[in-house]
Amino acid sequence: MDICVWNRCNNRCVMCTNPEGFGDATNSEPYSYENVISRLDNVKQIRPDWENEPFCLTGGEPTSHPRFLDIVKELRRKYPKNEVMIASNGRMFAYPQFTKDFLAYDPFRIEVAVHGSDARKHDMITRVPGSFDQTMMGLRNILKYKQPWQELEIRVILLKLNLSDVGNIIEFISKEFPEVARVVLIFPEFEGMAGVNKHIVGVNYRDIKENVENLVNRWNSDKLEVRLYHFPLCALPPELWKYTWRTLREGEVTFLERCETCVYKKYCMGVHVEYLAEVGDEEFLPIEKKTVDIEEELDEKHFKYHPIKDIK
Ligand code: SF4
Repeated sequence: MDICVWNRCNNRCVMCTNPEGFGDATNSEPYSYENVISRLDNVKQIRPDWENEPFCLTGGEPTSHPRFLDIVKELRRKYPKNEVMIASNGRMFAYPQFTKDFLAYDPFRIEVAVHGSDARKHDMITRVPGSFDQTMMGLRNILKYKQPWQELEIRVILLKLNLSDVGNIIEFISKEFPEVARVVLIFPEFEGMAGVNKHIVGVNYRDIKENVENLVNRWNSDKLEVRLYHFPLCALPPELWKYTWRTLREGEVTFLERCETCVYKKYCMGVHVEYLAEVGDEEFLPIEKKTVDIEEELDEKHFKYHPIKDIK
């Protein structure tokens, strides 16, 4: 379950999925300490079965909440067994004591977005000078202080602005931070500012297919896992299907009428509704004959997020 902890952010990313004005100080009241804690209490009431399910802390930038560590402390007190993950720009982790304090609450995974292979390219997308250097310091601290069972995941959003640099980003990460758990390549969502700026950031599946294929084939290995988020299966060659994960929420994705004839529909995430509205549906064509055999994830929980273990 996503818990939006804070509406404000210390970056101004050109493809932020939050709408314009979301991060204004005047909109922060729903994210006060008391209101976030009350939302955490509500989870128990509306989802009493939530005991073993993960929480993902999001924002804005969750770590920039003035009482972030108090919130995590209370989250842990209320939900001692649940996995806790966080989606972050990584900048607050440049402070060693903050990093140590957060890690002590035993988060399972920290997901940090990197947008460029150097400061100029990254900061052009975050629109905050110095953000790259601070994020890199954050990554170093997380790796220095985390426990072996805690994961650091790097996320790269595929944008018109950085597509030609993504290979360099992965190369840089694999050299500088070989201990990261994985790199996730994310197809952008055209929501919020990403929708407004789609002429600068937007890509379509057809144009990036070959690029994605080259990146996965080049970088996925025993040493570095590569995952793909937000990709319908027909947007990729079958050899890449085992790298796809279904992470978008119900309601954010849909199936087309013609998907009903697709023999691989049960393994597909569908199509993001905003993409259909902004770009259209002509790229998505049902696969009407079986071309490969699928080895499914057997566990129901795993199947939901990662239905294809392998292809034969
Ligand atoms: S046609 Fe529909 S169900 Fe089949 S792979 Fe494409 S989006 Fe998925």
